[in-house]
Amino acid sequence: MSVKKRRIKLPPWVFGLAGAALWFVIGVIGVAALRSGGSDIEPKEFPPRFSVDAPVPDGLELDTALLKRSFMYADIESLSPDDTLLAKNGGEVPPAKLQPVFNAVFSKDGLQIASLKDSRLKCRAEAIVPLSEMLDGFYNATGLRTIMINAAYEPDASAAAGKCAEHNNGYSFDFGIYLKDSDRRTAFTIESDYRWFAAHAWEYGFVQRYPQGSEELTGVAARDDHFRYVGRVAARILTENSLCFEQLDEFMRGHTIDDPLVLNDGGSYVVVYYHKLDESRKVPVPATKEGEPLPCEAYYIGKDRKAVIAAVRPTVEFFTEAKAPTEPDLDLDIDG
Ligand SMILES: [Zn+2]
Repeated sequence: MSVKKRRIKLPPWVFGLAGAALWFVIGVIGVAALRSGGSDIEPKEFPPRFSVDAPVPDGLELDTALLKRSFMYADIESLSPDDTLLAKNGGEVPPAKLQPVFNAVFSKDGLQIASLKDSRLKCRAEAIVPLSEMLDGFYNATGLRTIMINAAYEPDASAAAGKCAEHNNGYSFDFGIYLKDSDRRTAFTIESDYRWFAAHAWEYGFVQRYPQGSEELTGVAARDDHFRYVGRVAARILTENSLCFEQLDEFMRGHTIDDPLVLNDGGSYVVVYYHKLDESRKVPVPATKEGEPLPCEAYYIGKDRKAVIAAVRPTVEFFTEAKAPTEPDLDLDIDG
């Protein structure tokens, strides 16, 4: 009995598809080759990434007095405050909140932009998109796809556990460098192209958790490779003011609703303030003329859910015509 060779007839569109796929691969290789051409590529300027709820029209500026015109008092629970984002250490992460880090290592175009030391690594679901966008941002700026994620969520890695603390919150990641061509792994340091992270990680809501010079405050030896997702507002405040995570609480105490931080992010404003909760558990939120509270995000800060950082995005009615610069500001403190 002879063995008949099975011939599979393929419809013509398959060849079209295969051709298209081939061209796509060639294209990707070409682009990657161009991009990996060297470190002479200047890191790009990244556009503002806050959601632009209230783009600032030309010639207008935020009138902080209008912010204090009237408040609504929102029940803290109605703001669904995140109680772990700005908490030290972190505590338990419900399994439903965890996702494979694998979901973060592909760009929107399906290109693999980073690798994992262990394919089973998991992290908080909320960190997946920011992490993916940060890796993509790094790739777009440098052409490098060399980041290897060495560690993410580890249920037992609390501060007391020692060497690299705070992996139990699900928001922390250790980076390494993996050079595929030479199959070599090296330590991640903020040098050469990787300096990008020092300048841009905050745009994606990440900070270096144990920066150089903050050892006494963090209680952990400085390390470049450990990043933590803290959300974009906190990441910006920490980076802009060269603070480590431990200093956020104290810094924000100086910025209550009476003297809020106003962050202008390329035409979109975010007003951020600290609020100590009393027994009423209510948070003042600036209200519009119609008596509607502004969209507000709140994050618990410090111990025992006794204070929050609130961030509101003012609408156009909170802006007035920008004053032309006239006399110099003589707001000086004159001491004896
Ligand atoms: Zn770590």
